[in-house]
Amino acid sequence: MTTWVFCEEVDGAPSSSSLELLSKARGWGDTAVLYVGVGNDAAFAALGAHGASTVHHLDTGDALPAPLAAAALANLVEGASSDLLLFGMGSTERDVAGRLSARTGSPVLSNATDIDPTGDQVIVTNEILGGTTKVMTAATTGRVIVVARPKAFSAERGDGGSPEVVAVEVPDVGHAGSAVVLERHVEESDGPDLEAASIVIGGGRGMGGADDKWESVTKLAGLLGGAVGATRAVVDAGWVPYSLQIGQTGKTVKPDVYIACGISGAMQHLVGMKDSSTIIAINKDAEAPIFSVADLGIVGDVHKVMPALISALEAR
Ligand SMILES: Cc1cc2nc3c(=O)[nH]c(=O)nc-3n(C[C@H](O)[C@H](O)[C@H](O)COP(=O)(O)OP(=O)(O)OC[C@H]3O[C@@H](n4cnc5c(N)ncnc54)[C@H](O)[C@@H]3O)c2cc1C
Repeated sequence: MTTWVFCEEVDGAPSSSSLELLSKARGWGDTAVLYVGVGNDAAFAALGAHGASTVHHLDTGDALPAPLAAAALANLVEGASSDLLLFGMGSTERDVAGRLSARTGSPVLSNATDIDPTGDQVIVTNEILGGTTKVMTAATTGRVIVVARPKAFSAERGDGGSPEVVAVEVPDVGHAGSAVVLERHVEESDGPDLEAASIVIGGGRGMGGADDKWESVTKLAGLLGGAVGATRAVVDAGWVPYSLQIGQTGKTVKPDVYIACGISGAMQHLVGMKDSSTIIAINKDAEAPIFSVADLGIVGDVHKVMPALISALEAR
């Protein structure tokens, strides 16, 4: 069985999801990557260090990558008796996984938090009901597509050397390949990247509003060198942009410390932050569900607790 990992180039480097998946797949046997992007030696070397033995390089230029990448991957796996194809949950990744399933008739198991190929089957675990219930599904078919949650596995370099790099010809997919990407917009943000930050300050509706009411969240993040995150309630209210949303329909974070400020702890939020190493919650309601996942809970008004915390930090 060959394990394939889909990798989309991000700022000239392999996507974080591809490195996480390669690290997980290391030791399963032959591991190949379909790399979509301009490509460069450092990116290919990083894939090799994380476990790729072969990198198939497809440069789709300005074209919308998914139709071309799905067709290229379908061509690459054609004729093989068994393959495990791994994808992250980014929009292009999910787009390619769906198209590939349609092209090859392979099943897709999504939202995976663990993947275990044993014997002639692949057992995939995913979590439902806000992570309170685990579902294990065994796929016994020869070719299986798995879409894994971000940060389900840690990206760790192994001792792999340089992979073999093979150029892939851009396939002709007719009209499906005619869409082009016109513009890319990068959201400007201050401070560390939310998904990579070791400290995250999450603000919820309990902050009471945008601007001066929200200020304690950004101030605390600044003092601790952390990133600001938010609940969907706050994003829907327009207090902060969607790029800060944590949870089922937002980002997944796994920092050393997560400070939840005025967040109730709805299951859709918990799935995006419950794996943080230490969770500190500030909520005026002692019964708030966030306290069930918190290591340290402060029952109190955020507008009293947070200014006190900020003054203590400023006085250090
Ligand atoms: C399909 C679907 C997907 C979803 N995806 C997401 C997602 O990705 N991320 C997400 O976050 N949500 C998501 N939600 C929404 C989710 O169900 C909750 O509605 C949301 O997380 C609640 O946000 P909140 O905790 O900020 O607000 P609330 O639930 O309103 O909680 C506010 C909390 O603040 C406390 N509070 C109020 N005032 C103060 C104060 N002065 N001091 C201290 N505490 C105070 C209250 O006690 C309360 O616990 C999704 C929902 C659905 C249906």
